[in-house]
Amino acid sequence: MSKRIHNFNAGPAALPLQVLEQIKEEFLDYKGTGMSITEISHRSKPFEEIVNSAVDRTRRILGLGEEFQVLFIQGGASLQFTMVPMNLAGTGKRVDYINTGTWSTKAIKEAKLLGKEVRVIASSEDKNFSYIPRKYEVSKDAAYLHFTSNNTIKGTQWAEFPRSGNVPLVSDMSSDFLSRPFDTKPFGLIYAGAQKNIGPAGIALVIIRRDMLERVPSAIPSMLSYKSFADSNSLYNTPSCFTIYAIGLVLKWLEETIGGLKAMEAINREKAKLVYDVIDRSGFYRGTAEKDSRSLMNITFRLQNEEMEARFISEAQKAGFGGLKGHRSVGGCRASIYNAVTMDSIKSLVQFMSDFEAKAG
Ligand SMILES: *Cc1c(COP(=O)(O)O)cnc(C)c1O
Repeated sequence: MSKRIHNFNAGPAALPLQVLEQIKEEFLDYKGTGMSITEISHRSKPFEEIVNSAVDRTRRILGLGEEFQVLFIQGGASLQFTMVPMNLAGTGKRVDYINTGTWSTKAIKEAKLLGKEVRVIASSEDKNFSYIPRKYEVSKDAAYLHFTSNNTIKGTQWAEFPRSGNVPLVSDMSSDFLSRPFDTKPFGLIYAGAQKNIGPAGIALVIIRRDMLERVPSAIPSMLSYKSFADSNSLYNTPSCFTIYAIGLVLKWLEETIGGLKAMEAINREKAKLVYDVIDRSGFYRGTAEKDSRSLMNITFRLQNEEMEARFISEAQKAGFGGLKGHRSVGGCRASIYNAVTMDSIKSLVQFMSDFEAKAG
């Protein structure tokens, strides 16, 4: 078998080995159909079962009530930046956003492009998005409050979600979806691009509270309407079949092998602590996010200068660690340690970081 690296990619990112092995195992003949999952009809019984099972697992894992519907929509998280305001802004209402980094900024841009009355009620731009804002006032007449639960590029995360009273929360959870339990009640809509924590690229998993569907204008393109996807069990047109299938396997792994969100969170906390401990130990590495805003998923850090960072990334690569370069917009280093990144990979990384420090520090 070919050698697999310790994968710290930000997205597309590591998937559980067990899932990849099952995909390989049944790739040529999906459950006795004599066809690959990439060859069967999306209207066939086996595929219907794949969609229903992925939906049911999502419901069980999050303990979703009947008021929520689970959808799979092509176009990734970025299309949701458009679909959310287009579908949910209502008429004559303002929409509130909290800006915590690159992805929030893009979501705000799309809402403005649609001519919505956007109010940015808090932002951490004043300190280069290195923290989660604590002070904000939600507009009483807002159609929703949008926030990014985890900031993949800046390495910050909401430890506790914003409170919005009667205003429904809408969240981009792309990079920490299903990494920890949370109360779904305040949410009108949750979306997550699959390629960070739950599968391959190509899809956003969307959870919508059914009453939000009443707001969807009828005069919008069918492929941009949540109604089309809700009325057809995500089969309005040909979906990204392979991605939904792989998501189903990741959800099965999360539910049956890991044991659900509480267990996942405990593992994720332990993983993040190991890496932050090595960062905080001596000052050789420097975390870029404020401590009480640190992400458990994307750990961003710097070394004393760019030359040293380049050397760190290159030696890491040679030693079998991938994806440690920070986002091209911010530089530095980043270890993305999503659900599927194993404790073994974390321990190996921490050892490498200690050794590198001893040698270069
Ligand atoms: C990666 C990411 C996106 C963009 O996802 P696409 O599926 O590429 O559109 C949006 N939001 C967050 C928080 C992300 O991490």
